[in-house]
Amino acid sequence: MIFFDIGQSGQSLAFSDGVLKHFNRHRQTRFWQKEAGGLLFARFELPVINIDVATGPRRGDRRSRYSYWPDERAEQREIDDMFSRGLHFVGCWHTHPEDVASPSHIDRRNIADCVRRSYHALNGFIMVVVGRNPIPVGICVSVCDKSSVYELASSRKAASIGSSFTSTSRRSADLGRSSADFGMPDSGQTS
Ligand SMILES: [Zn+2]
Repeated sequence: MIFFDIGQSGQSLAFSDGVLKHFNRHRQTRFWQKEAGGLLFARFELPVINIDVATGPRRGDRRSRYSYWPDERAEQREIDDMFSRGLHFVGCWHTHPEDVASPSHIDRRNIADCVRRSYHALNGFIMVVVGRNPIPVGICVSVCDKSSVYELASSRKAASIGSSFTSTSRRSADLGRSSADFGMPDSGQTS
């Protein structure tokens, strides 16, 4: 199990051994290995968010050495299935054919898009990129909100996130608000 502190929030992410083994199995250490990826599901035992399940890759994913496009229907089935088992969708993972991974521009854009479109109990999503070097050296764990990607450190060193990762207010409070700001996140507004 590896822990990552979430900024100054006092919360941390814990990756189970099963999840780490899953990442490890798909590291692109051989030249023929394509990018792989999937979704991350967690149980909340605050202040710890336990990442217990990593899904994928699936048959319907489009994969090459340098790209990964998930099967979105398969993803939705996973989200529904896991939810019924008490596991919450908290983010995604994929591999890169680089020794120490970091999110690409496309990754940053995709995740920001994903956060914007989703209703979620969290202020952000977790993005894991798995590089070629052994874990934890080769992996990059980030927390992403609508505009930014914050990289987390796997020690007790904290990244510079000021706010708490979980939110007691609904995400809709932040979404789709324009000139009509009533200050009531639960006003039943649809758009
Ligand atoms: Zn990527």
